[in-house]
Amino acid sequence: MSMITKKISQISPSATESMSALANKMKREGIDIISFAQGEPDFDTPENIKAAAVRAIQEGFTKYTDVPGILPLREAICAKLKRENGLDYEPADIVVSAGGKQALFEVFATLCEEGDKVMLPTPCYVSYVEQIKLAGASALLFPTKEENNFRVTFDEVRENYAPGVKAFVVNCPNNPTGCVYEEDELRKIAEFLVEKGVYLVSDDVYEHLIYDGRKFVTAASLSPRIKEKTIVVNALSKTYAMTGWRVGYAAGPREIMTAVNNYQGHVSGNINSIAQIAAIEALSGPQEAVSVMAAEFARRREYIVDRINSIDRMSCVKPDGAFYAFANVQGVYGASFGDTVIRNDLDVSRFFLEEAHVAVVPGVAFEYPGYVRFVFAKSMEAIKEGLDRVERAISRL
Ligand code: PLP
Repeated sequence: MSMITKKISQISPSATESMSALANKMKREGIDIISFAQGEPDFDTPENIKAAAVRAIQEGFTKYTDVPGILPLREAICAKLKRENGLDYEPADIVVSAGGKQALFEVFATLCEEGDKVMLPTPCYVSYVEQIKLAGASALLFPTKEENNFRVTFDEVRENYAPGVKAFVVNCPNNPTGCVYEEDELRKIAEFLVEKGVYLVSDDVYEHLIYDGRKFVTAASLSPRIKEKTIVVNALSKTYAMTGWRVGYAAGPREIMTAVNNYQGHVSGNINSIAQIAAIEALSGPQEAVSVMAAEFARRREYIVDRINSIDRMSCVKPDGAFYAFANVQGVYGASFGDTVIRNDLDVSRFFLEEAHVAVVPGVAFEYPGYVRFVFAKSMEAIKEGLDRVERAISRL
């Protein structure tokens, strides 16, 4: 009898975390690695948020709280959803979880079971497929096209829809491409799916990182009917440079959120009480830091996209949002380094790591081979140096 269950043994390790771990190991060995692997802001958490957490500790706010989060935090989330997204929710419709990741996992586990399918346009965030598998369901993957800037189209959704689809994941801006849906296209997609009884899981974690004057529109705000079939997932991680604090949340129809709350009550209970006080300050305090960070990411995006396109054998479409450049590296295929002939994006990633001391994540991790993902939430100096190294390594091929 196997020691580990079939369900758990079929889970692949997170490729982004594996690549970061490998880069960190090389760093510990004294190798100067520039890592473009970990998707988190390089900024520190704003001071007012940190100060709120310090006060919470000093005042002894260190005990269990209500499972879905303290009422003032859920009220602050409702106020945010109204102010920024035009959505009306009540605190009982909100569950605060350990990052967007836990919120997503609990939503999939609540909505899906054996035999259900979840439609997932690719490239997609690394954890969706594994979380869907853990829920006992399967991912129905279908590719978007580079020539459409990886934006999913209504025709693609209609053609790939199949009976048994229980949910559809909207991730906009997208990780790893940064693509943002056109509002009309999103409306057509949402109306079509809702008509079929499909739930939308709207992963909005990059909503504030959006460029060229584009406007963020979340699916639930498109109509009351769509809202009834949508679960909004969001987190403070990317917006407020709070990845380590682990604060995310889900908002949705009461019956579903009550079930999510019951589930979380037995799995982890409430998130860290101190992080909850910090989260209230983040959502309700001054918001300047958010636009300052977004403006800096916009500046780096201009640089990295131009730079990648100037390197022989590589190209990159301009991301509409988030802090990722998804570079086409198929031009490197067929070249050799050492004894290795580069045949796929995994080989390219290994080539970058070994020959340029640069860590990236291969597209296959996002269910989209042929590409690698660069994170540009790094200092300009690091981005410049990293791409200098990649350029030099490619020129030696
Ligand atoms: N959703 C997407 C698309 C992400 O890229 C990430 C993190 O990289 C998450 C969710 C999870 O974020 P968190 O750190 O809040 O768990």
